[in-house]
Amino acid sequence: REIAAGKPVRTTCPYCGVGCGVLASVAADGTVTVSGDPDHPANRGKLCSKGTNLPDTLGLAERLLHPQVDGRRVAWDEAIAAVATRLSNTIAKHGPDSVAFYVSGQLLTEDYYAVNKLAKGFLGTANIDTNSRLCMASSVAGHKRGFGADAVPVTYEDLDEADLVVLVGSNLAWCHPILNQRLLAAKYTRGTRIIAIDPRRTATVDGADRHLPIRPGTDALLFNGLVVHLADNGVLDARFVAEHTAGLAKALEAARADAPSPAHVAARCGLPLAEIEAFYAEVATVRRTVTIYSQGVNQSSQGTDTVNAILNVHFLTGRIGAPGMGPFSVTGQPNAMGGREVGGLANQLAAHMGFEPESMDRLRRFWNAPRVADKPGLKAVDLFRAVEEGTVRAVWVMATNPAVSMPDAARVRRALANCETVIVSDCIADTDTARLAHIRLPAAGWSEKDGTVTNSDRTISRQRAFRPLAGEARPDWWIVTQVARVLGNADAFPYETPADVFREHAALSAFENDGTRAFDIGGLAGLSDAEFETLAPAPWPRPVGEGPTRRLYTDGRFFTDDGRARFVPVTSRPLPRTVEPGSLMLNTGRLRDQWHTMTRTGLSPRLSAHAPEPCLDLHPQDAAARGLTDGALVSLSTPVGTALARLRVTDAQRVGEAFLPMHWTDRFTASCIVGRLVDDLAVDPLSGQPDLKRMPVTVVPY
Ligand code: SF4
Repeated sequence: REIAAGKPVRTTCPYCGVGCGVLASVAADGTVTVSGDPDHPANRGKLCSKGTNLPDTLGLAERLLHPQVDGRRVAWDEAIAAVATRLSNTIAKHGPDSVAFYVSGQLLTEDYYAVNKLAKGFLGTANIDTNSRLCMASSVAGHKRGFGADAVPVTYEDLDEADLVVLVGSNLAWCHPILNQRLLAAKYTRGTRIIAIDPRRTATVDGADRHLPIRPGTDALLFNGLVVHLADNGVLDARFVAEHTAGLAKALEAARADAPSPAHVAARCGLPLAEIEAFYAEVATVRRTVTIYSQGVNQSSQGTDTVNAILNVHFLTGRIGAPGMGPFSVTGQPNAMGGREVGGLANQLAAHMGFEPESMDRLRRFWNAPRVADKPGLKAVDLFRAVEEGTVRAVWVMATNPAVSMPDAARVRRALANCETVIVSDCIADTDTARLAHIRLPAAGWSEKDGTVTNSDRTISRQRAFRPLAGEARPDWWIVTQVARVLGNADAFPYETPADVFREHAALSAFENDGTRAFDIGGLAGLSDAEFETLAPAPWPRPVGEGPTRRLYTDGRFFTDDGRARFVPVTSRPLPRTVEPGSLMLNTGRLRDQWHTMTRTGLSPRLSAHAPEPCLDLHPQDAAARGLTDGALVSLSTPVGTALARLRVTDAQRVGEAFLPMHWTDRFTASCIVGRLVDDLAVDPLSGQPDLKRMPVTVVPY
């Protein structure tokens, strides 16, 4: 695309799942400026600190600029041939499931689609999982059980129209700042009440009207108790329950057994009875309620059940499918939802299809694919275990850094170091994972990439290039396409532009879809190149002949076989790990101004100024018990690793609990890597999402 100097280009922010629109322009001297896009429905002109400082991250110094094979700079042809040869040789000797892909919610939908098609349709393996497994896999599993599909009901407009917003395990002010600003605007202009359920007193709590500093891991019990309270006090929508749901009796029976009284809930959740009663009473009286949940719910060994406990409340009260109400999973990454649309999880096929025989057959016919994977693949934790065990012998990592971000990261690093073939596509040269790669492929970065992303409220937006590709970097969809062609699949990978990939993705979503598959953007399958270029942000579904659908389930029909939402019986479980006397429970999470493993935000001095080093937060009582004072250096140890951090004493922490940010890696400090402290043993049995927030830890003076 020819871009005139100084002319703004509409694109989207590459960080969180809010999906803010950005106006970016490049001056004649190359200087990049950004501002919020006033016409984008997600942010209406605002940007948070991370978005505002995007220009700081665009230098070439840290970029991977040329393909490399075994440490040697090579031409693209040679790199593509090396990837194809190593994948095909491995498959020839050991079968399709001896190769795997670990991809990312940072990819654009077109990249995600192409690599899923290659793996699941042409290599014959579903061993393609994504870092979204660490992010919202539990919400996906919960949505499928409750709604019959992974289709988020609400839109951001519902935050403007709600009378009550309950935030569960979500530090919205730091992790989704623009949504938090939107919520605060609703609070101050129309009196929306905000309740924050979080073990910590976070920046989000500062804007809340009520804070429940809940004991970690007891959210499902709290919501089971809420279901019982609402049912016993007649706060249920009898017509909605009768006409649009199934399974209430069993769910209520399970909730009663689990949460027989508010006093029981209060004792187990570590909260005063009066606070529980006040919370239940407030929810009972406010119909327009949105419940937002995020990583505090998802990153748990009972994340899926907790999601369904929340959904049960909305089904019981009929608070779904109407303005200002509904359960709302806020995704972490910019394209976590786009990945879900193309089958980006190992247990899914493209276009929200599963591994039912008719779906596999439909995909085989649509793609004219010779080897459609016939069973779900390995989810992230199991995938890297298989690398360690040697059953996966070649792994291609795209746009993510599992050597530090996976639980038991030291083990993942060892597994990758011993793997026969590690291929890494990334825009950054020196990531912890790229150091272990045999083949490095320079990927296009933000400002160079073209395609689409889908944010938390199902809005599909264009990400547009406004600078030339750096060095020999290429888009991920292009790299995958070249490999697929060398492997003999040129007819199935004819793509010359991201628009080509998008049109096929849209057509597949509508192929033999009689409305039973939630994801349908068939109305976009016929876009011309010019229409793709100017595509305005709008949510899915978007079937042929229909406009965008902002709110789902307005007619009370869900995507289950009988069209009824499913109550799911939930029984809360004890924490999977035991905290011995003298130890603390380690919680982990994001900071306001960093993103993931800091490969990009770490390049911005302004962003790094917010938190120059990793600090461990501890309650004053816990600090005093260990003879520790604010600012001291402390040693942390868990059964799988050790770390060093500076202590911050704060009564924002619960007694007995510690908090450590997740961002730092070997590139910045070799001594404080969260992934090396948390084991990979506690995993949600349904979603495969690891519990990253409840790890026993010992803290002593350094
Ligand atoms: Fe980017 Fe999220 Fe900030 Fe919006 S809220 S500017 S999408 S990081």
